[in-house]
Order: sequence, then C-alpha cells, then structure tokens
Amino acid sequence: MDKKIAVIRGDGIGPEIVGEALQVLDDVAKLYGHEFTYDDVDMGGCAIDKWGDPLPQEMLDKCVASDSVLLGAVGGPKWNDVPGPMRPEKGLLRLRAGMGVYSNNRPAKIWPQLAAASPLSPAIVEKGIDFIIVRELIGGIYFGKHETVEENGELKAIDELTYTESEIERIGRIGFETARKRNKQLCSVEKSNVLDSSRLWKKVMHKLAEEYPDVILTDMLVDNCAMQIVKNPSQFDVIVTENMFGDILSDEASMITGSIGMIPSSSLGSSSCGLYEPIHGSAPDIAGTDIANPIGTILSAAMMLKYSFDMPKEADCIEKAVSAVLDAGYRTADIMPTDVEEAQKCVKIGCKEMGKQIRLHLRKEK
Ligand code: NAD
Repeated sequence: MDKKIAVIRGDGIGPEIVGEALQVLDDVAKLYGHEFTYDDVDMGGCAIDKWGDPLPQEMLDKCVASDSVLLGAVGGPKWNDVPGPMRPEKGLLRLRAGMGVYSNNRPAKIWPQLAAASPLSPAIVEKGIDFIIVRELIGGIYFGKHETVEENGELKAIDELTYTESEIERIGRIGFETARKRNKQLCSVEKSNVLDSSRLWKKVMHKLAEEYPDVILTDMLVDNCAMQIVKNPSQFDVIVTENMFGDILSDEASMITGSIGMIPSSSLGSSSCGLYEPIHGSAPDIAGTDIANPIGTILSAAMMLKYSFDMPKEADCIEKAVSAVLDAGYRTADIMPTDVEEAQKCVKIGCKEMGKQIRLHLRKEK
C-alpha cells in the first residue's frame, strides 16, 4: 500500500523523536512491502521563525491532503512572549480544528517491564493499569473566546467554555464504541455540581446510554477522578471527558504508567486521516542532548498504522519490538528504575540508540 504522511517535526525534542519514528516506519514499509512518502510540514515555533505564523494555511492544506499526520511536539521558551494568536500552541489548536479531529484517544497502560518506574506503590500497580482516556479535542474552553479587559481599574481575564449537544454526542459515541470493544465500562467525567456545560454533558451521556445497553455507564466528578487515578486506577476501562479535563487527567494518567515519554495518542474525526502524536510537549530542557525517549512517538506511528491505514499486523510488530527492547533491559533516562539494584540490571541508552534497538527487534518480531 502507498501512503502519504504529513510530518511535523516541530520544536525542542520534536525533530529527534520524529526522526526515530520515521526510520521505524521505513523499516516496516520494507518488511511488509508498503511505500510511505513523507511531506514535511512546518508548525509551531519553527514556523513562526520561518513564516511569521505558527501554521500557515498551505501547511494546514498539506496535512488535510495527506493520508495522516505524524507530529513530534511544538513550543518552547523562545516563543513564550509571542502574543496569544501567534503562539506555537495556537498552530496545534488550528491543526486539530482544521483536520476536524474531535476525538483524542490516549491509552494509559503500564508495561510490566516498567512497573518499578511507576511512582505508585507496588500494591496498586500489581492490580494492573490499562485504561483509555477519550478526550473531546476541538471544543470547550480551549476554543472559546479569550480576552483580558480592564474593569474597575484592574485587569479581568475571561475564557469562555461552551459545549453543544451535538459536540457532546459525537464524542460520547466514541466513548461508548471504545468501551464496547474493551471491558464495556464507560466512566463519564465532568463537573456537574458546578458547571452548566457539565450538566448538559451528563444529560447527553445518559440519553446515549439507552443505545448502548451492553455498556455500563458511570459518572464521576473530575476532582474525584483525579484522586481515583492515583488511588485505584485498575477500576477504569474507558474514561470519556471534555477537552481541558482530558488534557489534565491524561498527563496524570501517563505519569502513573512510568513516564510521559512512553504514551502515544491518536486524534480522529469523521475521516480516516488522523493526527498521531506523543502526549508530551517539546521538552526544551533536554532538546538536542539525545536523551529523549522516542517510544511515545514510535507507538503513535504504530497507532497510525492500526487506525488510519488498517495495518494491524504492522502495528503489532512495532509494539512487540518495543516490548522486546524493554525485556532486554534497554532504557532511556526517563524510564530508568530509581532503585539502584534494579538500575544495575538495565542499560541506559539515548534516543538514537533506542530507535536503533527497536528497528533491530522489528525484524525478529515479524
Ligand atoms: P513537556 O511534556 O515538554 O515536559 C515535561 C517534562 O517531561 C520535562 O521534564 C521533559 O524533559 C520530560 N519529557 C517530556 N517528553 C519526554 C520524552 N520524550 N523523553 C524524556 N523526557 C520527556 O511539558 P512542558 O515542559 O510543560 O512544556 C514544554 C513545551 O512544550 C511548552 O512550550 C508547551 O507549551 C509545549 N507543549 C507542547 C505540546 C504539543 O506539542 N502537543 C504538548 C504539551 C506541551
């Protein structure tokens, strides 16, 4: 199969981690007889420097015209003082909205080899951590009006949060469908004791539940959910929630699995053209040092193969190669065990070497 992939390397560690993922994709293409072509897209700080815009229209057009998009990360201190609409992250929000990808799927799964890297106690980790957060991606407070006005001699900042029934219904369906393919338990997370948008969220979810009698729907307030994720994560199968709550909870969920560097994500709308990215940011503190973990990006590429290109065997091969590399004791700095004895059983390697090891194991796993 021939597939055209729009590639956004972005800022900070973005070019390093995407470089490794592309080499993995090249090897998969050779092993399974596919042809992947890459179309480079500037987005984020690098696009501001080059074009004066975090996502010029022609770059967005390239993404929409591709079979899918692979993204590293954008942003960094260099662009912190850029005015709001021109910030690197605005490019990302425009990309998600322009591609119409309203559903962000973030798995939180502990790799057994990394149990010692989880900050949770072994008694909690032993019960297992394997759930998915389905986050609404192109609505809510991130897409509302933002303004700062002067009132009574002081500044007042306003961020608008809205959701329509149809916006909630389409993400709710993804939540129910995802749960249906797993353990059939859906937890809808909101703040209905305070927010009108959350009360509407809850009402729409319960109406939808009538169409999915095989799925058990529960409700949870977001503050309780933040606590339950660290106290008893094994209770969750699928969590469905709005944009900002999902952003925060998925970072928390990633940390209990060991490292933010391990977690991939997929964002999909009504077409098969998806956006695939690790959930972390551009990690400017470690950029250019070859210590970033490329696994989240490599697993994002695997998700692309599975969900957008219908290549489950190829995706599986990548996942098995990652698992085999972890079995062999290879670790980037972020997933090294903190315990001295455990650390002695591992080999600390950099970003490039991790990519190379995964490629070596691909051949064995096919
Ligand atoms: P971050 O995720 O970039 O970094 C948080 C911490 O995790 C840092 O200590 C970093 O070194 C570490 N880390 C992140 N990814 C890692 C990896 N692959 N391997 C090893 N360690 C890793 O979050 P931040 O520091 O809050 O944000 C930095 C910049 O990234 C900001 O400009 C922010 O706006 C941007 N950002 C971009 C995205 C995106 O592009 N999707 C997402 C979040 C943040």
